[in-house]
Amino acid sequence: MTVGVHPLAGFDKLLHYRVPESLRATVTVGTLVRVPVLNALRLGIVGEIGVPKDFPLDRLKSVVQVVYPFPALNRELLQLAHWMAGYYACPLDSIIETMIPAAVRGGAVIKQEKLLSVAQRLGDDELATMGKRAPQQARLYRFLAQQFKPQRKALVLSRLGQTVAVANALIRRGVLREDTRRVEREAYADDFARSELVAAQPPQLNAEQAAAVADATAGLAKEKFRVTLLHGVTGSGKTEVYLHAIEMALKAGGGVIFLVPEVALTPQTVARLRARLEAIAPDHRCVVWHSHLSEGERLDGWLALATGASRVVVGARSAVFAPVHNLRLIVVDEEHEPAYKQDETPRYHGRDVAVYRAKLNCALCLLGSATPSLESYANAQAGKYGLLELRQRVDDRQLPHINVVDMRVEIMRSRGLTTLSQQLVHAMQLRFERKEQTILFINRRGYSSSMLCTECGHVEECLHCSIALTYHRNDETLRCHLCGDQRAAPMVCPQCRSPKIRWKGLGTQRVEEAVRRVLPRACIERMDTDTMAKKNRFREVLGQFRTGKIDVLVGTQMIGKGLDFPNVTLVGLVDADISMHIPDFRANERTFQLLVQVAGRSGRGDRAGEVVVQTFTPQAEAIQFSRHADFAGFAAAELKLRRDFKYPPFRHLIQHRLRGKSPEKLKFFSEQWAKRVEQALGNRVELRGPSPAPIEKIKDEYRWQLWFFTASVTKVIGDLNRLRTEFPWPEEITQVLDVDPVSLT
Ligand code: ADP
Ligand code: ZN
Ligand code: ZN
Repeated sequence: MTVGVHPLAGFDKLLHYRVPESLRATVTVGTLVRVPVLNALRLGIVGEIGVPKDFPLDRLKSVVQVVYPFPALNRELLQLAHWMAGYYACPLDSIIETMIPAAVRGGAVIKQEKLLSVAQRLGDDELATMGKRAPQQARLYRFLAQQFKPQRKALVLSRLGQTVAVANALIRRGVLREDTRRVEREAYADDFARSELVAAQPPQLNAEQAAAVADATAGLAKEKFRVTLLHGVTGSGKTEVYLHAIEMALKAGGGVIFLVPEVALTPQTVARLRARLEAIAPDHRCVVWHSHLSEGERLDGWLALATGASRVVVGARSAVFAPVHNLRLIVVDEEHEPAYKQDETPRYHGRDVAVYRAKLNCALCLLGSATPSLESYANAQAGKYGLLELRQRVDDRQLPHINVVDMRVEIMRSRGLTTLSQQLVHAMQLRFERKEQTILFINRRGYSSSMLCTECGHVEECLHCSIALTYHRNDETLRCHLCGDQRAAPMVCPQCRSPKIRWKGLGTQRVEEAVRRVLPRACIERMDTDTMAKKNRFREVLGQFRTGKIDVLVGTQMIGKGLDFPNVTLVGLVDADISMHIPDFRANERTFQLLVQVAGRSGRGDRAGEVVVQTFTPQAEAIQFSRHADFAGFAAAELKLRRDFKYPPFRHLIQHRLRGKSPEKLKFFSEQWAKRVEQALGNRVELRGPSPAPIEKIKDEYRWQLWFFTASVTKVIGDLNRLRTEFPWPEEITQVLDVDPVSLT
């Protein structure tokens, strides 16, 4: 037997090996093996059986070891890897390494433990005799006979103060039985235990939910590839729809992947999901998958799925590669979240990979969001995806009232920049008196180098690209980082002639101080990446907030998702503008998403919620549509703009970032490269740039970028990548190709 192996060795090549007789039974496509490469042993994935015709067999080396006696990648995953390597223009081995976690590749030590149980029940007489002859044995027997489940041997013996010999004697006589099992380290085991106490009865579905479930169920029954977008307003009970679909898939013997953005992976959410999933399929452990797992936990989870012991996984982005058997359903919750995109090689988008994997498996892919990405929404409108809508909040709870505060007026009133408007201050004081809670959000997607007039809210935009211009301090210019257009930065606002045209974002700390001044007796906590650096601090603060010890929580978006606090009746968004003026064509979309999602945090309990949004541009569409959570209205307006400028979703974007120490060289090579692309691919891609990146210099390295717009990634990426490899780049210039980027700053 001979095989072709993709070695994980930093190069992209299939190497051939002979499989020794003793390993043949366990080797198939997808098996993880160790093979000699040059003078070292390397891991590799069996990519095919056999060798090309006329291959010189006598020179073949042998496979040395089979790491697991079952495929580490099934056929679909291997196909998926090949597709990703092509689409994202990255080496196959980098994808295989992403698909098979390090803990699995390393074959972390599998911990085992021994279990004792009663194999043969003793009669009263027998037990009495034993009690006289061997009292220790009788004690052990009696203890075990009272247990429902097998007990851990080490634990039982130490608790009874007995030696191994006592147990072994009974095992030899066939009275007790000893089993070995893998020790499972369960992530969030403690939280799970707590949540069991409150394991809620599943609610009765409302009509909209029931219709959505019926549609998903019908889709599942067909066993055909299908993508359905579940657009449901915040609090409309999307999770219940997912859970019913999951139940159907599991009961039909299928496997399920449930993706959530990393930020939403709080213990609370996970515990709730897990309790429900395990109630649906009691004989299946639900595997939890995210970036904070220990090596051991990761290996356990992976093994459970790869061996078919478990059929359902809840996890962040990389769970899309889980080796789930007979995959029937992939749920992508909060599908619009940029967190699904990986910002290092391979730069894949978890949602898009989910869709492709579902296609390979003829499975159903359910994308859910209150604010779908315009990519997914456009696909639904074009009829490529199904569309399910939940328009009502459960129990007909009202969407919170959104108050938009015009900060230009506020500044005039207070004669200077204020952090908190009067309206927000009053609302907070009222909550404090009523012993209700407030969350204040600060926009962290913020980008301080656009020019905003604090008098009239005017922002300078590029005439060609409709994105905010970036202020470059060193030469006092405003530049478009998309097309490279530039002009001198104005000293006064071009619209209202005010000199107050520069404005920087607020820090969480400044907001916290402002809150302390107006609510001196309140308990205020700040939550951002600085204060949350300590492990467990995040959970601790959330715990205190939940129990009502904290009155006001100030933080960035990290407190946003997946949290349900019934006592929060006020949500303030301190600086709604910033996300609108980042130099990104998705700026409006992000702002709309932020506003709607933030508003969704308020009024989840019985009391109505209120939202205060502070902005310098109250007339902006993203803000106006969000006041009524009017997604359709917003999408129509924004899609029109995107169509006019031929931005995604109407075309794909490939971003090419170049970095180097010498700005002159970087500029020169970027320009040469642009010419080369124009010449070779000009009829298939529209090129913009090269131009300096919005952050032109990071750690003494200069950054430039080019953008390639194209109707089809698959049709150009191969040629583009080949061209790039052949181009005579100087050593010191490094570069990154990012297909379908989600962040352009
Ligand atoms: P979404 O994800 O759409 O924002 P969730 O799925 O988090 O909403 O549901 C919000 C809350 O409503 C949850 O506490 C959930 O248990 C509850 N819920 C869901 N469906 C129903 C229903 N049909 N009746 C009553 N409560 C429900
Ligand atoms: Zn102005
Ligand atoms: Zn431009």
